[in-house]
Amino acid sequence: MVQVVEPATEEVMAELPQAGVDEADAAVARAADAFPAWRRVEPAERAELLRSVAGRIRDHAEELARLEARNVGKPISDARGEVAMVAEVFNYYAGAPERLLGSTIPVAGGVDMTFREPLGVVGLITPWNFPLSIASWKVGPALAAGNTIVLKPAELTPLTAIELEKIVVEAGVPEGVFNVVVGSGRVVGERIVEHPDVAKVAFTGSTEVGRRIAARAAETIKRVTLELGGKSANVVFADADLEQAAAAAPMAMFGNAGQDCCSRSRILVERSALDRFMEALEEAVEGIAVGDPLDDSTEMGPLISADQRETVASYVNGDAPVAIRGRAPEGRGYWYPPTVLCPVSNDDRAAREEIFGPVACVIPFRDEAEAVRLANDTIYGLSGSIWTRDGGKALRVARDIETGVLSINSNTSVRVSTPFGGFKQSGTGRELGPHALEYYTELKNVYYATEER
Ligand code: NAD
Repeated sequence: MVQVVEPATEEVMAELPQAGVDEADAAVARAADAFPAWRRVEPAERAELLRSVAGRIRDHAEELARLEARNVGKPISDARGEVAMVAEVFNYYAGAPERLLGSTIPVAGGVDMTFREPLGVVGLITPWNFPLSIASWKVGPALAAGNTIVLKPAELTPLTAIELEKIVVEAGVPEGVFNVVVGSGRVVGERIVEHPDVAKVAFTGSTEVGRRIAARAAETIKRVTLELGGKSANVVFADADLEQAAAAAPMAMFGNAGQDCCSRSRILVERSALDRFMEALEEAVEGIAVGDPLDDSTEMGPLISADQRETVASYVNGDAPVAIRGRAPEGRGYWYPPTVLCPVSNDDRAAREEIFGPVACVIPFRDEAEAVRLANDTIYGLSGSIWTRDGGKALRVARDIETGVLSINSNTSVRVSTPFGGFKQSGTGRELGPHALEYYTELKNVYYATEER
């Protein structure tokens, strides 16, 4: 059995049967059987089905948000925002089936045209930090393009994926098109990756597991999309609005209790502004409301598990001094206080590894060139921010930072209509926006001879 635990209380909130290889194979077989009919569903009808999924998610928004908040330990206000985005994702990709355009290419002797064809059965493997959102970023474009799906959610947080499966079926999507299998990564995940009838794997999770998936998928030349870890830089120049940069920084590093691949967990601050910035940051961090995820005013909840808390704690009390420590509840629940280390060298372990918890590093820099060098001195390249009032400098630095998703004078990373994904070891491929559709289709070229021979 899979025991699903509520991180804020350490209580078991559900027990589910644990799938194995047989169940994974059965789900792939159902998806393979459903594919020929699903790919032939008229584009307008597929669009309508996706709109209907979006509508039903809105109808069930509050229960989905509560389930996600309890299971992940995330603040209910965040969970509500995530569920609203999930509905938006399905609505957005409802626009795709009728717009999967090809092109005609001038050639001799005939007509040449391209088609965007679905891949077949796609295997989706998702993490525990944004379970429903990340699933929707994959399910939306995969269905829109005419693929069928086997989704394996993280064992710690499978509950909203199970609800999504019900919603998709209630919306009228034929049985077998979307299949959820709850099991371990080592067994069910690996089976999906090696299965010869799975055409593509879209994975979000750690870089370590991503490497393994890429290697295994190579055996069957599967298409692979990888959304992996991050160690993103929040670059604050002395000419920025420092109050605004400091006020925005805490949630960019401690949102979702720091268990966010886009977390700006390295704040690079121009040395001449360090004292002013740290003073404002201290006030902002100490004000973070850490507590019951179901309380509307909570800004940060517990970590996902006791193991995760132990890992996070191992990065504190190393070489880097603790400069700021916020508050956290005591007693049951996997709590950890928001913690800022300063000054940190970019060579410290805390600055190099993805901590995936509420521990962030402040790293001083001298000038623009050093800021860019430090920002890029990491194996990762997922997100990042630049704070300055100098527009030319902002764009210069933005072009030089090796990262997939960057904000200027803002810490936002994700929008339904814009591409999301990483450079370097943060992954390969893009989700969201029109770009995601490329990764759920194969380009076919057809030549039609028109000249008599
Ligand atoms: P994880 O890599 O441990 O697990 C992710 C998923 O992969 C789970 O469903 C797990 O069961 C499965 N899995 C584990 N081993 C597997 C294997 N050998 N074969 C196939 N599947 C396997 O990650 P996690 O701890 O759930 O999530 C945290 C990580 O996810 C962090 O590194 C974070 O940065 C990353 N993440 C990245 C993004 C992004 O979009 N780039 C978003 C969220 C999280």
